[in-house]
Amino acid sequence: MIPYGKQSINEQDIAAVVEVLRSSHLTQGPKVTEFEQALSHYCQSKHVIAVNSGTSALHIACLALGVTTGDIVWTSALSFVASANCALYCGATIDFVDVELNTGNMDMQLLADKLAHAKVQNRLPKVIIPVHYAGLPCDMAYLADLAKIYNFKIIEDACHALGATYQNKPVGCTQFSDICVFSFHPVKNITSGEGGAALTNCKHLAREMRLYSSHGITKEESEFYNDTQGAWYHEQQLLGYNYRMSDIHAALGISQLMRLDDFISKRQAIANHYVDRLQSYCKIISSNSIQRTSANHLFIIEVDGDKRKHLFDTLRMQGIWVQLHYMNITSQPYYKQLGFDCYNYPNTEIISASALSLPIYNDLSVSEQDRVIKSIVHYLQNK
Ligand SMILES: *Cc1c(COP(=O)(O)O)cnc(C)c1O
Repeated sequence: MIPYGKQSINEQDIAAVVEVLRSSHLTQGPKVTEFEQALSHYCQSKHVIAVNSGTSALHIACLALGVTTGDIVWTSALSFVASANCALYCGATIDFVDVELNTGNMDMQLLADKLAHAKVQNRLPKVIIPVHYAGLPCDMAYLADLAKIYNFKIIEDACHALGATYQNKPVGCTQFSDICVFSFHPVKNITSGEGGAALTNCKHLAREMRLYSSHGITKEESEFYNDTQGAWYHEQQLLGYNYRMSDIHAALGISQLMRLDDFISKRQAIANHYVDRLQSYCKIISSNSIQRTSANHLFIIEVDGDKRKHLFDTLRMQGIWVQLHYMNITSQPYYKQLGFDCYNYPNTEIISASALSLPIYNDLSVSEQDRVIKSIVHYLQNK
């Protein structure tokens, strides 16, 4: 079976995890800090809070930015549901901005129009969450300009985009955002089993996110509201969660991060090969752009209507486990009952109705990829 995405685990990864299992700390030991420092160095961001999932990272990012009842958050509907759910966890209202047809990223022109309209209605969002769809960064400089005009905060959902660059800097440097979020689920560009991280250059946001990720408790004497009463003393300063990453997960994350650049070049080679062989048969969601390099987390072709369903089933029958990224979030029953109408996001609907994610991951061999290509070309030539 050839899945659309899969982790790559080598002996170095395994040894790193085993080392933690033989040590004194399975959690709250040195490995989480080490992973945070390595990510901070790779992404050129001052502060990193490693947590137990990308979803937790999105949640603490919203909380740290003060998202609460009565606030409005916008994201794109062509994403995993977690991009929107995080706002609802905080009691806020969510709304969506449609995407560009060629990249699947939030359409900045439509966003600018929607902001102008929202200003008149006094319904401006507090936070906007752009999603770097398939690993290609959104137009962050333009978004940051809009943020200054309309006074909103930015959380990058970069769960696809670890290893991508924007204006020659790594995604995660948060030059054009307040917080950037990654996921280390096994299908993502690197894995820690389950895991995620929130990155920021703001000391205050970092402190808040750290508190929210661990019950709201601090053990830092310099941060105490009251005088310390002894070495046992700690303070719960707000209502937080247990979103901590364990040292077992962090050890895998550290080892995987060392392999990230290799993973990225392998993904690029796979993407190039697909483009080469498939571009004359079907539309491809663009992965290249001026001033932006994609992390090639997903490779997506577009095949319209019933043909897509048929090709999907045909490939799956051949053991090629293609996938759809994504169903329009607003078409989910939960979001429908909140009153959303998927037809208000026509470009999202078009991509949702035609997208097909092809296998792309580090250990995909050339012969496996050629098998995938052959099946698709065979199908498209005969239909
Ligand atoms: C994977 C993913 C998430 C959630 O990450 P988890 O680690 O699975 O919680 C959020 N947003 C996007 C775009 C993702 O792809």
